[in-house]
Amino acid sequence: MSQSVCILGVTGSIGRSTLKILEQHPDQYSVFAVTGYTRIEELSEICKQYRPKCVVVPSIKVEELQQRLKAYQITEIEILTDEDGLIEVSKHPEVDVVMAAIVGAAGLLPTLAAVKAGKRVLLANKEALVMSGDIMLQAAQEHGAVLLPVDSEHNAIFQCLPQNYLQIERQGEPLLGVKQILLTASGGPFLNHTLEQLETVTPAQACKHPNWSMGQKISVDSATLMNKGLELIEACHLFSIKEQFVTVVVHPQSIIHSMVQYVDGSTLAQMGNPDMCTPIAHALAWPERIQTHVPPLDLFIHSQLDFQAPDIVRFPALKLARQAMQSGGLAPSILNAANEIAVAAFLQEKIAFLEITQVVEHTLNHVQNGSADSIEAILQTDQLARQVASQRITQLGS
Ligand code: NAD
Ligand code: MG
Repeated sequence: MSQSVCILGVTGSIGRSTLKILEQHPDQYSVFAVTGYTRIEELSEICKQYRPKCVVVPSIKVEELQQRLKAYQITEIEILTDEDGLIEVSKHPEVDVVMAAIVGAAGLLPTLAAVKAGKRVLLANKEALVMSGDIMLQAAQEHGAVLLPVDSEHNAIFQCLPQNYLQIERQGEPLLGVKQILLTASGGPFLNHTLEQLETVTPAQACKHPNWSMGQKISVDSATLMNKGLELIEACHLFSIKEQFVTVVVHPQSIIHSMVQYVDGSTLAQMGNPDMCTPIAHALAWPERIQTHVPPLDLFIHSQLDFQAPDIVRFPALKLARQAMQSGGLAPSILNAANEIAVAAFLQEKIAFLEITQVVEHTLNHVQNGSADSIEAILQTDQLARQVASQRITQLGS
């Protein structure tokens, strides 16, 4: 039977890759709803091509979207607005699968709504899980949602774990013979830069990732290694494992997408060309497999695979994320909010590259940690952390 899909963040890099796969399997999937935030022209083209039942945009963009759809003589698509609209399509009774591909905290409530509605949720929006952790996972269990990782590393880990790993009640210790998770990192565009060189790198350089083509925010996160920090927290939640069982391994070629080590000396790795269509297709079809256009790995071309330890002196974001996970509670939300603000300021050339992590550290030191026992507490702290980070950015600029 055909599955009806809602794509949150369809105009983004993950959203577009998702469309590419759905297009290859028209008998298996249909697009029910799509959402976009800016790029209304692109969104209207997507509407023209895929004819969803609903589309969600910010209220201020409705008129522009209506005009563009009218020009295509499309009148039957329902337009919903803002966060309420995002939540409505995420939990819509006609939706089977939700691709959570909004970037940042803005995706938290819609993703949670999909989980609470018991959908199959394909999780790209790592920030939502970093913020809500146990609340999201408990909701998935309670409402029978199937939460599948799309982040390439977590998807790889999922593929390397025993089939029943996620069904077993765990409390931080690895089970079923798992010894540790090896989370791979490309090291980003500045892997071999000195601290001095890092001082003057530009947003354009930071957004030019050597292996992956991604949205701006995650590209900068990959350059600071905060992306790996967020992924460390994501892995701890997804696989109910304490942070000391997750080791980050820099692997510049991005061919091995992560590994699981077992107590008998086995190390299982998932490999493939670096293309997000593979993990997206895996999460869409799991436990089955569907075709993608991604060519099979040619090991005679990729004959050299290198590994090294991350350098936390040049890339302190990883250390901050590990500490935030150790502290627990609201610390990961503080880290995430401050990082979102700092990355935006860097992209606008208000602060320097190395100041991104300094802003995050400052914010972690100035916002009180507490228990992350409700979404309200998380959102309140998110707002507070944004204020503190913004103030710090103003200080740095004066
Ligand atoms: P992107 O910037 O290309 O796209 C983001 C999408 O979110 C766009 O459709 C945009 O319109 C929408 N959006 C942005 N702000 C919004 C807001 N305030 N409200 C509603 N919608 C909003 O980002 P991306 O690279 O596609 O990444 C999306 C998510 O997937 C991120 O959380 C990222 O960390 C994760 N992810 C991305 C990749 C990748 O290869 N791009 C890999 C792994 C994980
Ligand atoms: Mg990743």
